Amino acid sequence: SAARALAGLGAHLTVVDGGDGDKQRAAARELTEWAAAHSASGKGGGGRRAGITVRLGDGDTLPEGTELVVTSPGWKPDSPLFAAAAAAGVDVVGDVEIAWRLRGPGAAAWLGVTGTNGKTTTVRMLASILAAEGLRTLAVGNIGTPIIDVVLGQGKDGEPPYDVLAVELSSYQLHWAPSLRVHSGAVLNLAPDHLDWHGSMQAYAADKGRIYEGNTVACVYNAADKATEDLVREADVEEGCRAIGFTLGTPGPSQLGVVDGILVDRAFVENRQQQAQELAEVSDVTPPAPHNIANALAAAALARAFGVRPTAVRDGLRAFHPDAHRIQHVAERDGVTYIDDSKATNTHAAEASLAAYEHIVWIAGGLAKGATFDELVQKSAARLRGVVLIGADRALIGEALARHAPDVPVVDLDRTDTGAMPEAVREATRLARPGDTVLLAPACASMDMFVNYNKRGEAFAEAVGELTARDH
Ligand code: ADP
Repeated sequence: SAARALAGLGAHLTVVDGGDGDKQRAAARELTEWAAAHSASGKGGGGRRAGITVRLGDGDTLPEGTELVVTSPGWKPDSPLFAAAAAAGVDVVGDVEIAWRLRGPGAAAWLGVTGTNGKTTTVRMLASILAAEGLRTLAVGNIGTPIIDVVLGQGKDGEPPYDVLAVELSSYQLHWAPSLRVHSGAVLNLAPDHLDWHGSMQAYAADKGRIYEGNTVACVYNAADKATEDLVREADVEEGCRAIGFTLGTPGPSQLGVVDGILVDRAFVENRQQQAQELAEVSDVTPPAPHNIANALAAAALARAFGVRPTAVRDGLRAFHPDAHRIQHVAERDGVTYIDDSKATNTHAAEASLAAYEHIVWIAGGLAKGATFDELVQKSAARLRGVVLIGADRALIGEALARHAPDVPVVDLDRTDTGAMPEAVREATRLARPGDTVLLAPACASMDMFVNYNKRGEAFAEAVGELTARDH
């Protein structure tokens, strides 16, 4: 997306990949063909040939004459190429920075969401709320259409431009977007993740905190996660910009929270006599699990900061349905509920879904990415009916279970092949009693067994389907 957009604007590009395998060659061919077709049709760049050179197998040296480096998240910040760029006084930026710089005058406001977990869910909720207000909007950023394409596509084909964008921002994107200044931003939570890329928890948090820089109306933080509030304090914001907290309990002034099953807003009350503005009921949020109520409150806070009415918050939350593989109800069979939370790829996410059910047979394991499991197991032990372990790093979870939940039955499948899922589901079903939940929340990445978390979730759903078919 970045290469095509910049070539279309007349830039001369060298596209660099340190690898030189089949995948890189195929991508290089596709890009070169695109550039050739582009110049033949005379589109873009004022009829100029789209200048794209591809360089494979050398990810270290800066091409001569480089004026700007545009990077993708796969490149670690300590890559030699970036050191070379720094030495040459050349900026390194990411796609979000390019989109930000290319947005036109009078462009849509950006409402930003980051955090270790819940970003996609929250921006989708936010977009749903903004749409319910009648605003033209899109959930974009780390999801969906590349943000550069969205910004450059504005007002094309006779479509009216967007009023506001709900932008999901990863820590990588924030790291490489130095001039980004969103209208209002939220950090949902902070837990160790991607530390191999950022180098330390401090560096990771600092990158997340960049979302607050230059905010004009609200910096939204999680009142239950002090680290997010600390980031607000450290940020350099516009005058009049407020710190707005969200809490699952009774909200203080300048907070949104929950009172008697109602989501309420004490930060943006319209009428001074009023203590709090009612927004929606907890049951308007799907699923109404605690972590997801927190996501809804964060989305509501950003929407309210943008002037959205309470009724639109309620309507938008009611219209929202979560994406697949995020606490997705798969089936109910003999009183046992099967839930696919394959997207729980780290311990913090898995902790949230384990907290949402009472009696659980937990399917876990995969690639741990350097995580430890003691805290997760300690917090969840009382809810576990049994555990089925799969994947490369399952022993790490097994050891934590032995330490903190010695009485919970554990089935170690000792398998890392894709075909292990049906056996995992069968074993989990054997352990479950009526009223229990069989929960796929692996707390690990999927790449040891599956192409991605989607495929892992699909394999789970298929295995559950087979179970039902055979037994009826
Ligand atoms: P992201 O885009 O940040 O990866 P998603 O909305 O896709 O977040 O959710 C990722 C995983 O995190 C899911 O497994 C979900 O159950 C869990 N999750 C969602 N919101 C939260 C939250 N606020 N706190 C902890 N875990 C969450």
